[in-house]
Amino acid sequence: MDFSLNDEQKMMIETVRRFIAEELKPLEDEIEDKGFLDPAKAQAIHDKAKSLGLYAMNMPAELGGGGLSNMDRILCEEQFGHTTDILIRRAFGNVYEPLLHCKGEQVERWLKPAVEGKRTCAITITESGAGSDAAGIKTTARKTANGWVLNGSKHFISDGEWSDFFLVSARTGEKEISMFMVDKGLPGFTVGKDQKMMGLRGTPHLELFFDNVELEDAALLGEQGQGFKLAMGALNVVRLAQVGARAVGKASHVCEMMVAYANDRKQFGQRIGEFQMVQQMLADSVIEINAARWMVYHAAWMLDQGLDAREQIAMVKVHAAETLGRVVDRAVQVFGGMGFCKELPIERYYRDSRIYRIFDGTSEIHRGVIAKSAMKKGAALFDVHR
Ligand SMILES: Cc1cc2nc3c(=O)[nH]c(=O)nc-3n(C[C@H](O)[C@H](O)[C@H](O)COP(=O)(O)OP(=O)(O)OC[C@H]3O[C@@H](n4cnc5c(N)ncnc54)[C@H](O)[C@@H]3O)c2cc1C
Repeated sequence: MDFSLNDEQKMMIETVRRFIAEELKPLEDEIEDKGFLDPAKAQAIHDKAKSLGLYAMNMPAELGGGGLSNMDRILCEEQFGHTTDILIRRAFGNVYEPLLHCKGEQVERWLKPAVEGKRTCAITITESGAGSDAAGIKTTARKTANGWVLNGSKHFISDGEWSDFFLVSARTGEKEISMFMVDKGLPGFTVGKDQKMMGLRGTPHLELFFDNVELEDAALLGEQGQGFKLAMGALNVVRLAQVGARAVGKASHVCEMMVAYANDRKQFGQRIGEFQMVQQMLADSVIEINAARWMVYHAAWMLDQGLDAREQIAMVKVHAAETLGRVVDRAVQVFGGMGFCKELPIERYYRDSRIYRIFDGTSEIHRGVIAKSAMKKGAALFDVHR
C-alpha cells in the first residue's frame, strides 16, 4: 500500500494552489460585495488557466482536456475547494462527463467547444416537483418526424446564466428518461429568475422553461432511455470530485485559518489555543478532515482500478460534506465575534458550506443507499477483509 504522491502530482497540486492564491483569491471579496463576477475578469482567469493547461482537466487529452486520472483529478479538486464556486467554474471549467457520449456531428457542436472552453454547459435535472426523486420529473420530450419537442421546466440550475447549452433530462416514455443537449436561444426556451441563495454568491441559479421547444434528432445525447443512467453516472463522479474533494479542501483551508487564529488571539493573558475547550475543536477538526480525505482518495483509487465505487462515494458524500459543516461551525466559534463578522471570510465559508449536505443527493438520500447496501451485503460494506 503506497500512500505517497509522485513528483508530477506534487507539481500539479502546487501549480493549482499557486494559481488560486495569485489569480482567484484576490477576486473573492469583490464578487461577494457585488454579487457577480465581472465578465472581463472571468475571461482573463479563463484564458490564463487555459494557457497553463488547467481547463477541463477531467476531459480526455485527445480532446484537448487534461486527461487526468480520477485520483489526479480529485487532488486538483481538493485545491479548488480553497476558492469559490463561480471562480472554479470560470477558471477550470465544469465539463460534465455525459458529454463524452457525443457521437458524429455532436462532437464538433457540443463536446469539443465545451472542452475548449468556447461553450459553457450546465446540467439540468431538478424540477420544482422533483429534487431527491430525480426520476419523478415532469419535463417531456415527444418524438416528431424531424426530432423532438420539449416541454416542462427546471429550477436551481447552477451557472445557467453563463451557460450556452444545457444537458436536460426529460421523460420520453412513461418509464423512460432521456438526456438532451439544448441550446440557449432556441424558440420557446426561456430563462426565468435567478433564485437567490444563502451562499455561493456570484453563481447564478436559474429557472428554465421549455414551451414546445423543437429539438433536432442530434440533440439526443446517448441512447433514448439512457438519460437517467447518464445523469446518475455524471453525478457519481461529481459527488466525489466537486463535493467530496472540494469539501476536504475547503475544510482544510478553514481549519488552517482556525489554527492560526487560535495561535494568535490572546484572552486572559494566553493564546486561546491553550484552552482545552478550544483545543478540542481544533483536534476534532484535524481528525475528521484527515479521515474524510482518505475516504475520498480511496474512492478515487477504486474508480481508477475500474471498481464499482458507488457505495464508497455515497459514504464520501455524507462524511466529507458533514465534516465540512462541523469544521466551519467550529471555525465561527473559535473566531468568536469575528467569525460572525463580515470583515473576515469565515461567515462566508459557513454559508457556502451548508449546501454540501443538500446538492447532488442529500445526506438522507445517501444514508438510505448505504443502509440498504449494508442490509444486503453485511460486513462486505465495512470490513475490507470480507
Ligand atoms: C445551490 C444549489 C445548486 C444546485 N444546482 C443544481 C444543478 O446545477 N442542476 C440540477 O439539476 N439541480 C441542482 N440543484 C438541485 C439539488 O440537487 C436539489 O436541491 C437536491 O437534490 C434536493 O432536492 P430538493 O431541493 O427538491 O429537496 P427534496 O427532495 O424535496 O428534499 C427535502 C428534504 O426531504 C428529504 N428527503 C427526500 N426524500 C427522502 C427519502 N427518500 N428519504 C429520506 N429523506 C428524504 C431530503 O433529504 C431533504 O431533507 C441545486 C440546488 C441548490 C440549492
